[in-house]
Amino acid sequence: MQANDLAFDRRHIWHPYTSMTRPLPAYPVVSADGCELTLSDGRRLVDGMSSWWAAIHGYNHPVINQAMKDQIGRMSHVMFGGITHPPAVALCRRLVALTPAGLDCVFLADSGSVAVEVAIKMALQYWQARGEPRRELLALRQGYHGDTFGAMSVCDPDNSMHSLYQGYLPPHRFIEAPRRRFDDTWREGDDAPLAALLAAHHRTLAAVILEPIVQGAGGMRFYHPEYLRRARALCDRYGILLIADEIATGFGRTGEWFACNLAGISPDILCVGKALTGGALTLSATLTRRHVADTLSDGDAGCFMHGPTFMANPLACAAANASLSLLEDESWRPRVAAIAAGLSAGLLPLADHPRVRDVRVLGAIGVVETTQPVNMAALQRWFVDRGVWIRPFGKLIYLMPPYIISPPALAWLIDAITDALDSPTHFLS
Ligand SMILES: *Cc1c(COP(=O)(O)O)cnc(C)c1O
Repeated sequence: MQANDLAFDRRHIWHPYTSMTRPLPAYPVVSADGCELTLSDGRRLVDGMSSWWAAIHGYNHPVINQAMKDQIGRMSHVMFGGITHPPAVALCRRLVALTPAGLDCVFLADSGSVAVEVAIKMALQYWQARGEPRRELLALRQGYHGDTFGAMSVCDPDNSMHSLYQGYLPPHRFIEAPRRRFDDTWREGDDAPLAALLAAHHRTLAAVILEPIVQGAGGMRFYHPEYLRRARALCDRYGILLIADEIATGFGRTGEWFACNLAGISPDILCVGKALTGGALTLSATLTRRHVADTLSDGDAGCFMHGPTFMANPLACAAANASLSLLEDESWRPRVAAIAAGLSAGLLPLADHPRVRDVRVLGAIGVVETTQPVNMAALQRWFVDRGVWIRPFGKLIYLMPPYIISPPALAWLIDAITDALDSPTHFLS
């Protein structure tokens, strides 16, 4: 890319969460293959991010590419209203089989945020159809569910700056984030705040929405599976729907197919996205139980009121089918376990570093929480100069590499983080 392309980018193009007046630098990537991104000046970076949880098989994967090429030759898109097609049917068959038990009805959409909107609308229509309209949701603090209004309304109110959109966001209930860590010993009473809140408010709540086990963009926290089991049991006791947002965690990232499997539970509504296509195209799905689908279908509306233009895009479904076929032999299990072992061996000792507040590893996710916020521009540049692509935010420097990463490449990422901690210029005071 030419210098004037970058100047145009800076002047005219928004990037995620950036300013138009003071944009952070954007690095020009011209291709990506396996675990490497190639910059326009020829430098190659080891990818530690999987493009935000998505590229689990790495980039430019021959099986996914071939599936997309084959599908392009047949049709890239056709409307889903009144039409169905083989890639969608194959994908939904797979999703029903792979996801936790009882999730039998699939709604395909185009992004994670929309999958969450769909989940919320399903819950609202469910209660409407029962003749007992409920609008309130219960969400966890430090949660993240996307950037559209419905999704944002259940994100952590402080992290996602609810104050900016006051009057636009429906008010929901929030409960403190689960405190017991994933590998701590569960103590009786750890779920007391949740139990108390549900006891008090279950009559007005439509659903509980949460990210199972891993709270992603809202803080990269891993909580105890027993919390999730208790949440499931409490929702059952009061007849409230449980919505599990597995958009970040789905498809092996935590060491299980889904984070819900770590607790042995099944939600009433499940959202998946991100890694669904192996990172090749945007696609998401919201699955629900037959009784939820039947109840809302028999309500006043007579149907579920949602239908994206690009619903079930055949090309994206073909990519997803290819990605799932790569996962089906479960060879990702030993790979994710090896990444977990590598991250634990490399990152956990950093807990003693004076700039480190906490280190945690779960599956192919490694998090270093620092005492000071990172100087994003300075640290990002330093990482790029080191030949790694790691995108820190706030006080979090974290890795979620493609499952195919080699041990030396993983060590390269870990070494970069280790050395980064030693420079005061990488942190704000
Ligand atoms: C990324 C994410 C979303 C939003 O997905 P988009 O595709 O960015 O709209 C929702 N929930 C969770 C848990 C996520 O990680």
